[in-house]
Amino acid sequence: MKYCKKCLTPDTRPRISFKDGVCNACVFAEEKRRGDVNYNERETELNNHIAAIKEYSSSNGNVYDCIIPWSGGKDSSAVAIHLKEDFGLNPLLIRFNPLIPTKVGIHNCREVLNHGFDSMQINLNVSVSRKLCYRFFLERGNPKLHWDAGIASAIFKIAIDLKLPYIFYAEHGETNYGGRVLHKNSEKIRDYEEIIENLVGDNPRNWVDGDNITPRDLYQYVMPTPSSIKKNGIEAHYYGYYRKWNVKENYRYVASKINFKTAERGRTYGTFTNYDSLDDYTDDLYYYLNYIKFGYGRGIRDLSRHIQNEEITREEAIILAQKYDGEFPEESIPPILDYMGIDRDEFNKIVDSHRTPSIWSQSDGRWINILREKLMHEKI
Ligand SMILES: [Zn+2]
Repeated sequence: MKYCKKCLTPDTRPRISFKDGVCNACVFAEEKRRGDVNYNERETELNNHIAAIKEYSSSNGNVYDCIIPWSGGKDSSAVAIHLKEDFGLNPLLIRFNPLIPTKVGIHNCREVLNHGFDSMQINLNVSVSRKLCYRFFLERGNPKLHWDAGIASAIFKIAIDLKLPYIFYAEHGETNYGGRVLHKNSEKIRDYEEIIENLVGDNPRNWVDGDNITPRDLYQYVMPTPSSIKKNGIEAHYYGYYRKWNVKENYRYVASKINFKTAERGRTYGTFTNYDSLDDYTDDLYYYLNYIKFGYGRGIRDLSRHIQNEEITREEAIILAQKYDGEFPEESIPPILDYMGIDRDEFNKIVDSHRTPSIWSQSDGRWINILREKLMHEKI
């Protein structure tokens, strides 16, 4: 186990690769800084793409130009406002309702819509979602896995139904934050195969469980077939490919446009930032479980992005990591227990079952994060 020499991302991050001790997210950030990525060229590409979208809309008499998968958060909202105000598009915002919505998330959604957008919201069948939430918490340590599948598939289904083939996602995570890019083009155009493999891990059709979960219950989670995506000309692009992607800048931009509220506690659990993933209580558990499985949590994720954008030094970041990373999201747990219908004992047992043995050891009944110890003993 080792940490990247430049940021704080460890090699326990799924699918990340290292060269000479440096992770591929840092390599990408360095390429962007050196000017290897020609953003002028990409801006022209974006303009051409948008011209094609407008052409399609006018020849088909469409009211909406494109679909934006939208959470109400800073990133998807920044994309929506940029496309509307910089390019004159009329996007339709589509939201896949969070498992357990927060007040701040609801407020921010309302603010963005008041800024001048139409939206659609898919509300999950809660009785099915509860079962899947518990199952994936138990089996994979990811209570939101089905939500990831749902947001990926529902958008494509709606695009086909509405004959609205142009979709804009925010950024390609595997390129920006370290991961495995299956095809060169998938940094720009969403790759169906990559989403299923990296994000979901299997086909939601396999989640049928007798009378407990029927194929009908899974409708919202199952992707349309690749042939229907192709036949309907569905094209999902990453806005973050075309323009320099910086999550802090997205926050500043959105906050300059609407009354965007940040975390009520002053920051979100496990990190020093207050503007990211604010809309669902289960997000806090998701990040905590990453800490349990991979030995690093939301704080190190955020700190690494800040280091890559030269907003903080690695030395400063180590101090903040020690302070915040892996913090237990105490106040978010009661609504999650209620949602899954389990008690604290069962919850704790399941959390412990996901501890990776090479990362965790026990001493006097306390869990020690061996990976973290390594970071703390690094010479600063
Ligand atoms: Zn790195």
